[in-house]
Amino acid sequence: MSHDSTVSKGKVKELVVASNNRHKLMEIRAMLGSSWIVKGASEVAPNVGWDETGTTFLENARIKIAALRPYTKGCILADDSGLCVDELGGLPGVNSSSFGGVEGDHTRNIDHLLSVLKDVPSSRRGAHFYCLILFQDEASKVSQFEGLCFGRIATVRHGAGGFGYDPIFMVGTSDTAMAEMSESEKNAISHRGQAMKAFGLRED
Ligand code: IMP
Repeated sequence: MSHDSTVSKGKVKELVVASNNRHKLMEIRAMLGSSWIVKGASEVAPNVGWDETGTTFLENARIKIAALRPYTKGCILADDSGLCVDELGGLPGVNSSSFGGVEGDHTRNIDHLLSVLKDVPSSRRGAHFYCLILFQDEASKVSQFEGLCFGRIATVRHGAGGFGYDPIFMVGTSDTAMAEMSESEKNAISHRGQAMKAFGLRED
């Protein structure tokens, strides 16, 4: 896909990410590199909020873009992502950030998932992260990109990097949790990294 309408070579462009998750922002910033100024939602719209009432990642990404559109004429990127566990039929999915009962409380989310899977053997602990990226340019043209990362759910936490479910997500068939990877290692294989690769603007 060509991005000629939004990217002029050698010119730094501005992009608002429809998120205030500092980890997501850090990862996206690192992937886009120096040709983009990446701003978080609160930098352009300090009081903006949105309810993620969608039943799909796409619906939620659309809600995020619509919430930010009145505050900028420029490019907006929305990332809606989550963890889908095979044994749970794809849950927590779109409800990943509130699975433990409190929105954005990663400690509770992990505790809850570990307790739900407490008696599930390793052969049935398969899972994947999913990321959907919607990008709306200055002309309001929308592009959509997806990324997946497969692995399995550990029985205890490992590592201190990343965010969310990273400490209990063992990557592929390896013995390495996502939280044990450096940022660049994670970005090379993660669902978000794959979606950003499909996007075609990655610089790293
Ligand atoms: P969103 O901000 O509504 O897209 O929710 C994303 C939620 O999915 C986060 O709060 C995490 O619980 C989970 N999640 C998404 N991406 C990642 C990741 O890269 N690592 C760990 N958890 C993630």
